[in-house]
Amino acid sequence: MLRGSCLCGGVAYRADGPVHHASHCYCTMCQKQHGAGAGSYANVPAAGYAVERGQELVVEYASSEDGRRGFCRVCGSTLTWRSTASPDTIAVTLGTLEPPYDGPVERELYTETKPAWLPVR
Ligand SMILES: [Zn+2]
Ligand SMILES: [Zn+2]
Repeated sequence: MLRGSCLCGGVAYRADGPVHHASHCYCTMCQKQHGAGAGSYANVPAAGYAVERGQELVVEYASSEDGRRGFCRVCGSTLTWRSTASPDTIAVTLGTLEPPYDGPVERELYTETKPAWLPVR
């Protein structure tokens, strides 16, 4: 069982683990939404994902025809990414997991738009 919450604590969720395909996504939409160089996610089964507290605070933004990005409307924490075309899986943001995620990150996505400033030099 995985747990996670947003920055303000208003939203808490649980998910059946383990996670799959932990990734850093450098697509320009993730950069915009996270205000960062990447969005970091891992997949869990949608059937095992549940918001335990604060469902009324969760807003989903349709960033593409089938992409839905869930976030807390109070503090702005990014929480989930899901595709209406693949309803069996939902991606949770690695940074909202509690305790902190300590597994490997297996994939980098959209490396062609990885920002030049991201690596520390
Ligand atoms: Zn919040
Ligand atoms: Zn992305």
